[in-house]
Amino acid sequence: MIEGLITLVVAHEVASQKVILEKTSEEYKTLQAKSEAQKSGSSSRAVKYNITFDVATRGAIKADASEFASVVENTLTDSRGWIRAGVKFKKVASGGKLHVILASGAEIDKYNGCSAELSCTVFPLVLINDTRWLKATDSYDNAGLSLSSYRQMVINHEVGHYLGHDHVTACGAGGLAPVMLQQSTGLRGCKGNSWPLDNELWVTRGY
Ligand SMILES: [Zn+2]
Repeated sequence: MIEGLITLVVAHEVASQKVILEKTSEEYKTLQAKSEAQKSGSSSRAVKYNITFDVATRGAIKADASEFASVVENTLTDSRGWIRAGVKFKKVASGGKLHVILASGAEIDKYNGCSAELSCTVFPLVLINDTRWLKATDSYDNAGLSLSSYRQMVINHEVGHYLGHDHVTACGAGGLAPVMLQQSTGLRGCKGNSWPLDNELWVTRGY
């Protein structure tokens, strides 16, 4: 009986040590992965495109410019965003490849193909409409979607144009609206979505 008990205790200790060893090895692997990621500057996947951006305002704007700058930076560095296409965005004070500008409708209206009512991308400028930034659009409000999700969507959509994307019209997987569907003017039966879908993870310019 006693011998059996000792064997059991020993076996248990061995098992515990194995668990500890395995855990340590997993922890080591995690640390190693983190250190590799830090070296390459990516949290999870390879960086293929390094894009610097600066943030500015243009015309008479009503929104809070510093809040705008922080939402832009948070959205462009969010793990759900264009980072999944291998883009690493880095904010710089000036002289970025991409210029993200909070602009009045009157300023946006000066560009060919843009309107005072909406945001617009005129490479390499992403012009976010001050009024839309403050109020989103009827299609968004009517679908019960939040202003913060609108802001993330409009940044990702316009930056998608900067990266070479045109509009798409069909819903994506799970009925989600692709980020390049013109959600500002209507959801076309899709579910609102602020982030690029799996089949939108490509880049042709801007890096
Ligand atoms: Zn568009």
